[in-house]
Amino acid sequence: MTVPMIKLNDGNCIPQLGYGVFQVDPDKTEELVLEALRVGYRHIDTAAIYGNEEGVGRAIAKSGIPREELFITTKLWNDRQTDAAAALDESLHKLGLDYVDLYLIHWPCPANDHYLEAWKELIKLRDAGKTRSIGVSNFEIEHLEKLETYTDVEPVVNQVELHPYLQRWRELDAFRAHNIQIEAWGPLGQGKSDIFEQPEITEPAHKYGVSPAQVIIRWHLQNNVIVFPKSATPSRIAENFDVFGFELSEDEMAAITGLDRGEEGRGGSHPNDVNVS
Ligand code: NAD
Repeated sequence: MTVPMIKLNDGNCIPQLGYGVFQVDPDKTEELVLEALRVGYRHIDTAAIYGNEEGVGRAIAKSGIPREELFITTKLWNDRQTDAAAALDESLHKLGLDYVDLYLIHWPCPANDHYLEAWKELIKLRDAGKTRSIGVSNFEIEHLEKLETYTDVEPVVNQVELHPYLQRWRELDAFRAHNIQIEAWGPLGQGKSDIFEQPEITEPAHKYGVSPAQVIIRWHLQNNVIVFPKSATPSRIAENFDVFGFELSEDEMAAITGLDRGEEGRGGSHPNDVNVS
């Protein structure tokens, strides 16, 4: 199975499908990431706040996979926006790495108004080789515009909540107009909704002999979105990677797009409501 590579606006490439480790127990992270690497994943999405960077690092070291074949993302937590250089050093230490492939500002926290300062520091960290690429997460258009006004570096990605119940096409088009790739967090609705039971999902699942989760991952991939579903179950980790043996038709894609519930479909916090905590 070959995972497509997506070219970023700084020339680097990212595997379109990865493994996310939000809420993966730090004690189980090493074995689960090792399992993901064994299955074939090469892109791991973690964050300082997940508390499991050490486990990710141990799995990378044990896997024996050459560092340049891996794509590792971590994120700057909200209370470190004025202290990004030290925060990245701590993450690198925990990961046991000299550099990450992608470093993200986790949330803009607009009420605190430090994200521009953090972005300027991330540019320096990229130039110093501590991260190959830099991007943002949970940024709204106005936050991106502020970075654009005061710096000449566009984020390579914006990682936002995105799944069939929350699609936000207008915003996604605006991000793409700025050459920013979209990463979907909560791509399966975090397993909290009834999305897996919708006929628009179950019918193609039945037709292609795959699971509802595989149909949703495929829908993201065919929308050119970067996606890294999380599971702590080895069989599901394998299942979520096995999504290259079928293709949704245009009508099936459109039917899933029709499930959009707009803001009502949001499962997490709105970015403007998240502040330093
Ligand atoms: P997700 O949408 O990937 O859902 C994960 C849940 O879906 C699992 O806990 C399980 O309940 C279910 N699931 C997974 N595979 C399944 C399968 N094959 N069959 C049935 N159910 C299955 O949610 P997520 O973990 O929140 O998002 C993915 C990744 O995005 C995270 O691990 C993390 O890396 C990232 N993330 C980032 C932010 C951010 O603010 N930037 C926030 C949340 C998550």
